[in-house]
Amino acid sequence: MRLNKLLEILVCEGCGEGFQLGQGGVLRCSQCGKVVPMQGNIPMFTDIPDEIQPSDKEIRGPDVGTPWRQANWQFLTDWLETQNTDKLILDVGAGRGDFAEALEGRNSIALDVYPYPEVDIVCDLTKTNPFRPASIDAVLMLNVLEHIYDTHAMLKSLAELLKPGGKLLLAIPFMVKMHQIPLDFVRYTHFTLGQFGEDYGLEIEQLVGFYDPMFFLGEGIRNIQWPILRKMRGPRQYMGRLLLGGIRFLAHLMQPVIGPGHIKSPYEAFSLAPTGYQVVYKKK
Ligand SMILES: [Zn+2]
Repeated sequence: MRLNKLLEILVCEGCGEGFQLGQGGVLRCSQCGKVVPMQGNIPMFTDIPDEIQPSDKEIRGPDVGTPWRQANWQFLTDWLETQNTDKLILDVGAGRGDFAEALEGRNSIALDVYPYPEVDIVCDLTKTNPFRPASIDAVLMLNVLEHIYDTHAMLKSLAELLKPGGKLLLAIPFMVKMHQIPLDFVRYTHFTLGQFGEDYGLEIEQLVGFYDPMFFLGEGIRNIQWPILRKMRGPRQYMGRLLLGGIRFLAHLMQPVIGPGHIKSPYEAFSLAPTGYQVVYKKK
């Protein structure tokens, strides 16, 4: 989104007034004079976290990556199909534009804590919320909430900036190993995700789990292969490799029989181990 368009919905947290482009490439509050630095065209509302390891750009799409990633692409594109293109969408944790292709032709704002070239605004919403209250139609937070330490501060900000009836689309892993460490903080059950709705005035429109037992099995195999087998020596390692090769072969044969992962209500699912959850919250 262009900066002048973005400025229409940003307000100074101190006094509630809007910002203007000031001299020397900064944003300046038109009332109290508060200054927000810019990096190029990107307003920097918060400092870049110390531990961050900037991500490389990866190709994303409907058939790219793990089944969970594909399921999230589907989750977003299915939802977008039901939405008018004029809806203002805030993509929180947009990163390198993982979902930019799906959002093409949409009115969307890419927010992150790091000024990637694909980003429109740098802001840690758990520290400050520069968005005009009730100004956003929909928030995307796809595989992001687990990387935020203060979940409650984040949900509070999101509930404030959403319009009444606005949506929050959340995808959050459950049985996915830690990633982007050390900035990986939480896994929640659907009971907690339900409670978040209660706490922040967000009605649950949809809450499903994505179940993928074969991915689960693959992770188990990798857990044997790397931390255990690698350390073994001699005949033990030989035997271990042989057995693991057998398991991998059987897993390979099982894949087409078991099929791809599936979506199910976690309240009805037989398994208590979803890969992750997909939730649509509606602001009351
Ligand atoms: Zn101000």
